[in-house]
Formats: sequence, structure tokens, C-alpha cells
Amino acid sequence: DAKDKNKFEGTWRLFKLAVPLDHDPGKDFLHVSDGLLQEIAKVLKFPVASLLPPEAFKVVRKSFDARKKLKEPKFVYTVDMDVQKLISLEPHCWDFISRLEPKVGLVEHVHATRDFGDLTSIIRECKENKEAVLKEGNGHNIFSTELYKDLATRKPKIAVVGSGPSGLFAALVLAELGADVTLIERGQPVEKRGRDIGALVVRRILELESNFCFGEGGAGTWSDGKLVTRIGRNSGSVLAVMRTLVQFGAPKQILIDGKPHLGTDRLVPLLRNFRQHLQDLGVSIMFGTRVDDLVIKDGHVLGVMVSKSADRLHLTSQKMEYDAVMLAVGHSARDIYEMLLTHNVELIPKDFSIGLRIEHPQELINSIQYAELASKVCHGRGKIPVADYKVASYIDKEDFYGASDAGLASRSCYSFCMCPGGQVVLTSTSPSEICINGMSFSRRASKWANAALVVTVTTKDFEALDYYGSLAGVKFQREFEQRAALMGGGDFMVPVQTATDFLENKLSVTSAPASSYRLGVKAANLHQLFPIHITEALKQSLVTFDKELPGFICNEALLHGVETRTSSPIQIPRNSDSYESTSVKGLYPVGEGAGYAGGIISAAVDGMLAGFAVAKKFSLFHGDV
Ligand code: FAD
Repeated sequence: DAKDKNKFEGTWRLFKLAVPLDHDPGKDFLHVSDGLLQEIAKVLKFPVASLLPPEAFKVVRKSFDARKKLKEPKFVYTVDMDVQKLISLEPHCWDFISRLEPKVGLVEHVHATRDFGDLTSIIRECKENKEAVLKEGNGHNIFSTELYKDLATRKPKIAVVGSGPSGLFAALVLAELGADVTLIERGQPVEKRGRDIGALVVRRILELESNFCFGEGGAGTWSDGKLVTRIGRNSGSVLAVMRTLVQFGAPKQILIDGKPHLGTDRLVPLLRNFRQHLQDLGVSIMFGTRVDDLVIKDGHVLGVMVSKSADRLHLTSQKMEYDAVMLAVGHSARDIYEMLLTHNVELIPKDFSIGLRIEHPQELINSIQYAELASKVCHGRGKIPVADYKVASYIDKEDFYGASDAGLASRSCYSFCMCPGGQVVLTSTSPSEICINGMSFSRRASKWANAALVVTVTTKDFEALDYYGSLAGVKFQREFEQRAALMGGGDFMVPVQTATDFLENKLSVTSAPASSYRLGVKAANLHQLFPIHITEALKQSLVTFDKELPGFICNEALLHGVETRTSSPIQIPRNSDSYESTSVKGLYPVGEGAGYAGGIISAAVDGMLAGFAVAKKFSLFHGDV
């Protein structure tokens, strides 16, 4: 009957299938194991699990769950069941399927959706006039065959400034759609950038234009490569970005892993493939080329002024003309903010967070999170992932002691960018400033676990810096970065204090443990770094985190100063549909530096959507260009 027929159509999604550790293949993310078939059989109430054909099931998500309240740790799966295939391979299943009822969050009937794959495939399908559409989760069309028809005849000249995730994805979309794209990057390609980073870490030479923030792939290249995002893991745009990363060499398991990450060793070859693809599409890529200024006439951007890094003082500038300029420069390009102000481009100060980076021995975090299971972690080689954590606390303004009026506000303190098996790295772009972050390799095999512990700050916190206008937030960041450089004693040394000493407000002179930070650490009292209300928020939160993760506060926990660039202190206002700056026509601010993203995936999504918006704008409103 009709009800039965409905059960045949589309796919049934089975959630929360928990497979005990001993019955799971571990890191093989795609494998439908016997252990998993047993869990599926329980849901279907099918008596003989070994009769279920693995081909009828597809793993959609897999996560490791070792929460303490569980009797034993498990891998937790979401699986799609193709009913037609299942019945054709094992007809006995029908009796059981026909009795299956949906239960929200456990068993759901998902209607057939076409899997359009990566961005290149989606756009090419649209070009070939097939019925293709890239949809957002809410059903909104991002791009479709219909839209492509309007674009086909035009070839605008677009400059994409910055080759971070947002710039790369903007360039990809526009190049696939036939625009004449130039990608301009102040830093170096990954091969040369790797050598520059080596020189920084080994010989303390900071290349101002090629470092942990600047260069091919942007700030996310020498990173942990976490691909988690707060913008909706299953949205059409995030999936398109993730599949595009797979197209360029990321392992397929990132599509399934509950906490996907790549690591620097995988990001570097991925970026080379991305570059090759863009070049094959005809994109002209200019490395070692910095955009210093915009050419603006009558409120319209006509092009950019660029200078070459080879000319170390950037004395010779060259004018390049474009129909549109996409500004994907990240939030460390402070010179760009200053340049925009000279053109009266509106910049709005925004809230962000500042704090310290805490580092523990990874083994300690493993044992806090996994108890006796910790011994089985095997430095990222075994079944069990190296342990991570995520903590957050809320501090009511009533709980602040000794804070000035400006500091009296309720705040959140939270862990950010946690890197299990990673190392602390220098993300300064000037020798007089210290700011740090974390990176890791794909196996996350180092003996350290680090994470930022940051406190929210609002524009009220930097009111006193009003003189700097919309750049007050940048000035606020810079003050702590410069103070950290002084406290470190120069030469990129980082000031540190154990968590225990930080709570007791005393210098860690004899007891400071080792750090993964390669350029050296110096004992300092980190109370001297921030205003009292930030220090107080960090102290109170550490105590809260220690209750959640007993052992978190200890002599081996080393706080490093300073973490300031959690997100952009500025937003560059733009039109929400066209992505065009509200101040200047033809300028498209995108990604993290423009204040519209935070992290690799959200920056990539923003670049992709802006790319579509620019393509649409040119075909629909500009006529022939
Ligand atoms: P960016 O990646 O900052 O790229 C901007 C690019 O523009 C740079 O390549 C820069 O050289 C170039 N540029 C700047 N000015 C100019 C100019 N004037 N002319 C020409 N080119 C210019 N996020 C995660 O999601 N997961 C992580 O694990 C993670 N780890 C991180 C680790 C580290 C060490 C750092 C620094 C960041 C990490 N992040 C992580 C954050 C993530 O890297 C950023 O959110 C993301 O890269 C922002 O992308 P974007 O394209 O907006 O800008």
C-alpha cells in the first residue's frame, strides 16, 4: 500500500548507533563493520545481523564518545539505509522494514536528495544545462542552472586579494564561471613559505610578508586544520566546501568524522592541488605581491596599487585595473584597515576575545578525559583519538573584584582552537609584537595539548582608545601584543606562568615546565598583562574548568601570553545580498578580516557565497563588461 511504498522511497537515516570500542575498526571511517551491523539489526529488530548486506548502508557520521557517564567508550554512528538495495539483496528484511516507525533523532525518513559533490562538479553541471542546483539547508538556492544562463556571456576582470580560504573559494567560483580572475597574495607559495617559517622557528628570522599568517592558504595553513564550524555542518554550502577539499586531496573521512581535522602536512599538498586547478582554469596567481592601495574614482573601485615583496621596501608600485576587487585579506592585515580609512570606507569596531594559551602534556589530557583508557591512545596511531576538550564559563558582573567601571560587565571565558597533539606557534606579523596560536600535524602525535583560554571583550573595553576611532580594537590588541613582547624579553620569547602560580599571582621562577613553543619561553607574572577584570575572569574560569576536568590546574599546565587574534576586531559593512561594500562600489569585503567569518570553513563558505554574488551582480546589473 501507499504507506509501504513510502518506506521504499528515499533513504532511512539511523542515528546514535553506538558500537563498543572493541567491536569497531576505529579510524576506518567508511567501513560498515560487523559491530555496526549488529547495532543496525537491533534498530530494525532483525534477528541475524550477519545477513544484513553492508552495501545497503552508508556511514554518514562517526564520532568517538568517551564521556565519563558512559559505562564504556563507544564510536557513535549515523547511517543511511537504502531500503530498495537492502530488500533486493536480502528480501527477508522487508517484514522488519515495514514495521519501522520514524522517531525524531533516532530513525528518520530522508527524501531522496541528489549529491552534487564538490563546487567544480556543481558549477559544471549547471553549465552543461543539466538540472543542477546548490541549495542551502533552508531550501534557499545558492546557485542553479537557471542562474548560470544569465552569466554565460560575460567575462568580468576580478582581483581577489588574499589566498586564504575565503580568497581561494571566491577565486574558484568566479574562475569556474568564466571570469578573468587574478589572485593577489602578499605572501609566498607553500613551498617557499615553509622555508620562511623554518627560518623563523630555527633562526628567529621573521619574514614580514611570509609567515604563519601571510602566504598561500592564509592563516589556516600552518594550523591544526580543524574543520569544525558553528555555521551548520550539514548545510549545502558547508558540504560543498568540504567536498571541494576532498576534491583537492583531503581524505574522505572529513565528510564523516564528527570532529574533522586535516593538520598542516595534509593542508600543504591540498593547497598545491588547489593552486594547480586555479591555474588550469586560467587564474593568474601573483605571489609576493601586496595590495597597498585601492584606485577609486567617483565612489567606484577601478583597480589596485600593488608592490612586490622582492622589492623589500615596496618602493615601486604598479597600478592594475579591475572591474571588481574582492578583499579577502584576513584580520592580520592591519595595514589594509588603515588604507581603507584613508578612502573613508566605513569600518565598524566589533567584539572579540583575548586571553592566554594553556598547554598541558597530552598524556594528562588523555587521562583526564579517558581515565584508564588513556594508555591505549598510542599518540594518534591507535583506534582512540588523542583527547581534546571544550570548556566554557560565564562570569556574572557581580563576581568581579576590583574591576574598574569599564571592566564591570558579565563575560564569557572559553577554550578556543584546541590543538591536541600540537604545538604553540608564533603568529606575530611584526617583531615588536607577540601573539600566538596552535598548530598540529595530521596524526596529532606531539606530546602537548594546547588551547586558547579567552575572555570576551566588547567595544566598551576599548572606549579609552577612542582617539584611534574605528581602529581602537586593533590598538587594544596591539597593546597586549607589545606588552607580551616586552615581558618575553625580546627575540620572540613568550612570557609564561604555570596555572597554579597564575592563580596565586606569583612568578613561576623555578617550576616552569617545558613548552612546545620552539622560540623559547620566559617566566613572567601574567597578571601584569591584562586589566584586572580580564585576569580575574581567567582565574575564576580556570577554577571552574578544573571542576569539569579535574587536574586541569596543575604545575604542568603552562599559560602562554598572549592570544589576541581570535576574530576580527573590525567589520567592513557590506550589502547582505550583493556582498558589495556599503561605502565603495566594486569592493567586496569577505572572510575573517571583513568580520564575516571565524575559522577555515566559515571563511571558505563566505568566499564561495561572495563569489556567486559577484558573478550574479556582473551579469544582471552591469551589462557587457
Ligand atoms: P586568511 O586566512 O587570514 O587569509 C588572508 C590572506 O590574505 C593571507 O594569505 C594574507 O597573506 C593575504 N593578504 C593580507 N593582506 C594582503 C595584501 N595587502 N595584499 C595581498 N595579500 C594580502 N581555523 C580553523 O577553522 N581551524 C583551525 O584549526 C585553525 N587553526 C589556526 C591556527 C593558526 C596558527 C592560525 C593563525 C589560525 C587558525 N585558524 C583555524 C583560523 C583560520 O586560519 C582563519 O579563520 C582563516 O584562515 C581565515 O580565512 P580568510 O581567508 O578570511 O583569511
